[in-house]
Amino acid sequence: MSAGADAGQQAKYRRVVLKISGEGFVHPGERGISVDAVLHLARQTYAAARHGVELAIVLGGGNILRGAQFSAGTTCIHEATAHYMGMLATVMNGLALQDALESLGADTRLMTAIRMDGVAEPYIRRRARRHLEKGRIIILAGGTGSPFVTTDTAAAQRALELDADILLKATRVDGVFSDDPEKNPHAILYSKVSYEDMRRQNLRVMDPEAVTKCSEYGLPIMVFNFRKEGNIEQAVLGHRVGTLVNGD
Ligand code: UDP
Repeated sequence: MSAGADAGQQAKYRRVVLKISGEGFVHPGERGISVDAVLHLARQTYAAARHGVELAIVLGGGNILRGAQFSAGTTCIHEATAHYMGMLATVMNGLALQDALESLGADTRLMTAIRMDGVAEPYIRRRARRHLEKGRIIILAGGTGSPFVTTDTAAAQRALELDADILLKATRVDGVFSDDPEKNPHAILYSKVSYEDMRRQNLRVMDPEAVTKCSEYGLPIMVFNFRKEGNIEQAVLGHRVGTLVNGD
């Protein structure tokens, strides 16, 4: 448990989907997988889960490969192939996170959208829900299983089909800004923003397709920085650790 939260506090949400970008698996500026970054993530997520929330984690793969970037400028690798490679990258992250979580004592299941029977269970919605009801942390890898979309979209889709109360989008910046905070030091951090503002102002901290999906069903999103100690736990407890995106 992190120093900031009382271990006995009950989570605000019954069930959440937590989207963790591939960047969470490395130190800033690096690529690949760093064992201590994975362990840091595992500690943060396990501390959050221990407040009684049902936790499904959707993983990105950008620390290893993003399909669109990988295939750009080449004719020998079809873009669809590169996207499948990106989906497989998320499985590597999933295997690492699963072991790290279990080393801390968590009960987990790794489920993949592309069948890989030797290493993980296939994602089956009803089975995923059952694991959650039994208090297991489920790690959902392989995105949607289809190319040309991102794991943000996969997270929105899983959050909807699993009836999550909120989509927690853990990323490398503090929330939704008026402009890219890594390029514009004067960018303003919003504490709250509507789906419509995200679209109109072209605020791209999250894949617009995922935001649209959430807006269609009124699913709130919290965008926050995973690098800040205790943020995942605070988000699960319902504290405003980043930007809340909803229909208001
Ligand atoms: N991807 C895909 N279909 C999906 C999810 C992911 O084709 O449903 C591919 C896509 O190429 C993407 C890559 O997997 O770039 C890694 O995912 P993403 O870029 O979303 O990872 P993140 O930015 O969150 O680390």
